[in-house]
Amino acid sequence: MPRPIQATIRPDAIANNIRLLKSRCPQSHCMAVVKANAYGHGLLRVLKGLEAADSLALLELPSVEALRHAGWAKPIVLLEGCFDDQELHLALQWQCDWVVHHPAQLEALVGHEALLLSSTHKPRIHLKVNTGMNRLGLPLSTVGAATRALAGLAKRCGLPNPVLMTHYANADAPNRERAPVTVQQQFERLQNMLPTGWQTSLGNSAAIVNTSQYAGEMVRPGIALYGATPGPLAAQAYGLQPAMLLNSAVIAVQAIKKGQWVGYGSRWLAGRDSLIAIVACGYADGYPRHAPDGVPVWIDGHIMPLAGRVSMDMLTVDVTDHPNCKPGSPVQLWGEHLPVDVVATASGTIGYELLCALSQRVPVGLA
Ligand SMILES: *Cc1c(COP(=O)(O)O)cnc(C)c1O
Repeated sequence: MPRPIQATIRPDAIANNIRLLKSRCPQSHCMAVVKANAYGHGLLRVLKGLEAADSLALLELPSVEALRHAGWAKPIVLLEGCFDDQELHLALQWQCDWVVHHPAQLEALVGHEALLLSSTHKPRIHLKVNTGMNRLGLPLSTVGAATRALAGLAKRCGLPNPVLMTHYANADAPNRERAPVTVQQQFERLQNMLPTGWQTSLGNSAAIVNTSQYAGEMVRPGIALYGATPGPLAAQAYGLQPAMLLNSAVIAVQAIKKGQWVGYGSRWLAGRDSLIAIVACGYADGYPRHAPDGVPVWIDGHIMPLAGRVSMDMLTVDVTDHPNCKPGSPVQLWGEHLPVDVVATASGTIGYELLCALSQRVPVGLA
């Protein structure tokens, strides 16, 4: 038997999650965000589950090429736009749409009018506005001129009507209404800039599940597709199903005496005679090395606490209260028995980071 760790990816769960998200904003175009190799799930592996999406969004052209070769014919949007002129040519060749988020990107686009005019592919441009997140997006003071310039270019070159886009800073916050910048404020700032005939692209996962009235005519769900929560509630409370299960097994059990220590740095001290299960999963598999003692691990139907530092290939769990645990006992690091968000929160991070960090060496199966 090989090393027992395995990830299982469930395209059906993604299909279900898309249905659920679409039911939250039935009028909206659903752009599935598949950056970071579909949040660690494997872009081509999950493609079947994404069929109900109206378009896909990501960052890099090689992934676009892979999607086109795999037969994805619907729109693909480059979320950070074209990084240089060569990318702009390739983006046209691969029939992409793309974001323009910076004055320099708009200038470069306008400079390619002749190319856009002659191109058979007519890209839809998503003009990104900074409405308060202060990350990407044109400053509000420049948006009027930018929309006029872009509208003119689109008209002359036969491009579809552009889209006005922004990104919410606090759609996931437990106290959304009292955030320094609220979803409603950002929505209104964008709405004030909207040329007639343009659509809006607004909601990430959090906005779709928490404030769907501000999600816009296009929505951009990422994390919720994969069944983890965007916050603040648990994924299950939103009806989301996990698309990644990370399973392994116990490979050894140590019986230790009260007063003995476990693992690197001897972080965990046995306060009683204890049984320690050694699980085949470490930080080189994508488990967070900074997980503290007590992080839950599912072993054969029981939730048991992590005990001692996570090492590269193994982690250690206090199974004293589950004495039947033995080599071969099934373990789930995250999945249907143990939400990735619970492990993430206990480890001081978010589900996004754990899913994206699933390592290359973990064998992956489909279910
Ligand atoms: C990543 C990303 C999303 C998806 O965000 P989630 O929180 O995963 O739903 C949406 N829009 C943009 C611009 C993004 O970069």
